[in-house]
Amino acid sequence: MYSDPIQKLIIAFSSLPTVGPRTAERFVFYLLKSGKKDVAELTNALKNLIGNIKSCEICWDFSDTSPCKICNDPKRDSSTICIVEESQDLQSIEKTNEYIGKYHLLRGTIRPDDEDSIKFLKIKELLVRLQNENIKEIILALNHDLSGENTMMYLEKKIKETKPNLKITRLARGLPMGSDLQYADEITLGSALKNRTTS
Ligand SMILES: [Zn+2]
Repeated sequence: MYSDPIQKLIIAFSSLPTVGPRTAERFVFYLLKSGKKDVAELTNALKNLIGNIKSCEICWDFSDTSPCKICNDPKRDSSTICIVEESQDLQSIEKTNEYIGKYHLLRGTIRPDDEDSIKFLKIKELLVRLQNENIKEIILALNHDLSGENTMMYLEKKIKETKPNLKITRLARGLPMGSDLQYADEITLGSALKNRTTS
């Protein structure tokens, strides 16, 4: 058994997505062997992250300001909202340079194996925006997988209950089924956005 501080950090790293106990061990011993300066840089970056990043109170992206830069930008089209799962998806869409509207982050999807997952999504917050903002189009840009599809169907129902005549669109087919938006290349994603279809 390693000494307590080592063991604790292994457990902390193991809780990160895709990091198993072996990788967590490798991280810890890498840090122990590197200089104090490297470790201090990592500590400062983590402190900075926790101290300065908050949730944008409009779109729920993570940002150092609330509202975030995009929500605050008068040049962006406030009548179109693109719904994505995570910050990384927003970044992928921004990189296409095909989108000038605003966003709403759900912070996940409804997972078929976990009924409670719906409670943590920013759906209520979206429906409030529909009531309060002058929105003309909602783009559902969730991943093309089972939980993404289920969530888009649920959102469509909820949006129609709140605003029956609102235009709801989806990304054009072209992104492979089961693929993550954040790994799609800019050209494919850009054209899926440009050729979006009314659902
Ligand atoms: Zn925002």
